[in-house]
Amino acid sequence: MKVLVLDGDGIGPEVNAQALAVLSVAADAAGLSLEVERALFGGASLDAHGLPVTDAVIADAKAADAVLLGAVGGPKWDDVAPHLRAERGLLRLRKELEVYANLRPARFSSALSAASPLRPERATGADFVIVRELVGGIYFGEPRGIDREAADPVGFNTMVYTRSGIERVARVAFELARQRGKRLTSVDKANVLEVTRYWREVVTELGATEYPDVALDHAYVDSYAMKMVANPRDADVVVTGNMFGDILSDLAAALTGSLGMLPSASIGAGGAVYEPVHGSAPDIAGQGKANPLGAILSVGMLLQHTAGRSDLKAAVDGAVQAALDDGLRTGDIAWGEPGTRQVGTVEIGQAVVDHLRSALEAGTVPLSA
Ligand code: NAD
Repeated sequence: MKVLVLDGDGIGPEVNAQALAVLSVAADAAGLSLEVERALFGGASLDAHGLPVTDAVIADAKAADAVLLGAVGGPKWDDVAPHLRAERGLLRLRKELEVYANLRPARFSSALSAASPLRPERATGADFVIVRELVGGIYFGEPRGIDREAADPVGFNTMVYTRSGIERVARVAFELARQRGKRLTSVDKANVLEVTRYWREVVTELGATEYPDVALDHAYVDSYAMKMVANPRDADVVVTGNMFGDILSDLAAALTGSLGMLPSASIGAGGAVYEPVHGSAPDIAGQGKANPLGAILSVGMLLQHTAGRSDLKAAVDGAVQAALDDGLRTGDIAWGEPGTRQVGTVEIGQAVVDHLRSALEAGTVPLSA
């Protein structure tokens, strides 16, 4: 398995180091041969090459089985021209690889109930996946820009979805719903935006013709945000467009305790990108404080989706849970509950590695292949 590692900026290199350690233990135990390549990305690439991502890195990403990404951006690069922003590099990578479906699981862990803003009796048992369309919608639509010369200067973006663009991401969500509770909620703003009225029409048709066994419902994004907070246990699989998914998944992250806990997988036609949901966290970068669990859980998703090894994903998830059960907490999830201890990035990462290694050696996680 060829993995291109793009650490990016800020805490990216710190969390990725722990994620890679976990990946190599899992690969060793399963006899998967792992070839790791590294490249600069985001602000680091801008400093070295004058671009947030180079053509060579895009080519390497296309040649790899998976990309493991840290995070990009930071105040150092906030004032560069729009086309040079670190985030543009990320958007280009996603677009070139055609990773149109971004899977963001959110699970409430009782070990982290003190870190959630919700009372445990509301949140316990919440376990859902947001499937966010990733290469279309308002983040990519043309025309876009700022016209400062207009009589009344104007900023504008365009929100577009084609039938095929909606169908392919909805299919991923329906398939996932089939493997889970056979329930899918499609989130839109069909009462105001024609583009999302069409989204609703296409998802409804696809459900009726190809997935009659999945119970489909629809919700407006504003009221759905409210529902996610009020009754997070009701959600199972949620499919939505690029911008709404961006916002709802950060909300989901806060519900489950911390942005630092959430993994993601971006899959589609031409490759796969695995990355934690959080950004580069410049406020804590370089201090050894970052929570690497979102990055580590992203490795679990890589093992499941790219290597086809759900058994190894379960082993990684179990090792993360075991580290939390030991009472280890990084600063973002440390609330001083009895039996817990605040630790840094390396210590909690090492604990996950140790738990994973001993579970795999002891055979407590049955390997399926
Ligand atoms: P952020 O996710 O970087 O940070 C938000 C808050 O959460 C900060 O207080 C941070 O310290 C904390 N946090 C985030 N991840 C953490 C972790 N693993 N452990 C502990 N605490 C963590 O979001 P932001 O501050 O809005 O953005 C910072 C930079 O990251 C910006 O340049 C932004 O554009 C970029 N960004 C990149 C991505 C990406 O690479 N996919 C995503 C979001 C933001």
